[in-house]
Amino acid sequence: QKAEWAKLINEPSVSADGHHVELVANIGTPNDIQGVIDNGGEGVGLYRTEFLYMGRDELPTEDEQFEAYKAVLEGLKDKPVVVRTLDIGGDKELPYLHLPKEMNPFLGYRAIRLCLDQQDIFRTQLRALLRASSYGNLKIMFPMISNLQEFRDAKAILLDEKDKLVADGVTVSEDIEVGIMVEIPSTAVMADLFAKEVDFFSIGTNDLIQYTMAADRMNEQISYLYQPYNPAILRLVKMVIDAAHKEGKWAGMCGEMAGDELALPILLGLGLDEFSMSATSILRARTQLKSLSKAEMETLAEKVLQLRTNEEVMEAVKAVIGE
Ligand code: PEP
Ligand code: MG
Repeated sequence: QKAEWAKLINEPSVSADGHHVELVANIGTPNDIQGVIDNGGEGVGLYRTEFLYMGRDELPTEDEQFEAYKAVLEGLKDKPVVVRTLDIGGDKELPYLHLPKEMNPFLGYRAIRLCLDQQDIFRTQLRALLRASSYGNLKIMFPMISNLQEFRDAKAILLDEKDKLVADGVTVSEDIEVGIMVEIPSTAVMADLFAKEVDFFSIGTNDLIQYTMAADRMNEQISYLYQPYNPAILRLVKMVIDAAHKEGKWAGMCGEMAGDELALPILLGLGLDEFSMSATSILRARTQLKSLSKAEMETLAEKVLQLRTNEEVMEAVKAVIGE
C-alpha cells in the first residue's frame, strides 16, 4: 500500500473528475521540513510557532526567530508556508511569562489576546517574520480570532512593523497574505464579513469542535461529545468555505479533521481548497482523493448537512465510499 502511495509523491492533488486541491503539512519546527518534502507535501498549512517559545527559560530573540522562519521558507523553496503567530495559553504554558492561574485557561488570556496585550512579544515575532518573508512564500495567520476588531488590530500592528522595517531599508515581501484561524464559533458565524477583510481562512477544528460542543478537547470523560461529523460542525465549516469563495478568497483546514479519511469526502464536496495535516497522512489523502468524484461528493455533502447526528453522517459517508 505504501508503495502505491509513494507513486503519487510528485503528482498533483486531484479528484477523479479533475478538481484540484492543496495537500499541505502541519509542522512544529524547521526539523520537520524534510518530512514534508519526503511525503509529497505541497507546502505548509500550519507552522505552530509555539515550540520556539517552549522548553526554555526566556523568550526567543528576534534573530533566533528570524533564523527559524528563514530556514522553513528556504527549505520549502517557493511552496506556500502558513506561519501561525504565537498561540500560547490553554494547554500550552510558558512558565517564564508568569501568567496568573485561570479558572478556564481555554477561555482565557491566550493566543492573539495575549499578543495584542503584550505587544512587545508580538512585535518581535512579526518583525522576525517580515524579515524572513523575502526568502520564500510566506503567509501569516493569527490564532484564536473571535471578532473583527482583533483581526484589524493585529493587522495594523503587522503593517506598522512592516513600515518601520522598510524605512530602515530592510527587504520585505510585498505579497504576504494575511489570514486567520477560524476556531471560535463567533468567527465562523461572521465569516461572510471577515471574508471581505482577510486573505484566507484556515479552519481549526480541534478548537472549533471544542468550543461549539462546549466539550474540553482534553477531557476523556466527555470525549463522546467531541464529534467532528456532528452536523453542527459541518454547517459551520460550510459557512466558512462559502463565505471565503463569495469574496474570491481561499479556505483551508488545519485541525485533525483535515487528515481524516471519513471527513475528506465531505470536505471535498463542500469545496475546501487546502487540507493541512501531519506529513505522513498526505500520500494516503492524495490516493483517496484520486478515487473520489467532486460532483458526487457535493451530493454527499448536501445530504449530510441535513442529517441529525454524528453517527448518521459517518454511516452516510461509509455507504458512499464503500466501507
Ligand atoms: C486547531 O485548533 O484546530 C488547531 C489546528 O490549532 P491547535 O491544535 O494548535 O490548537
Ligand atoms: Mg487551536
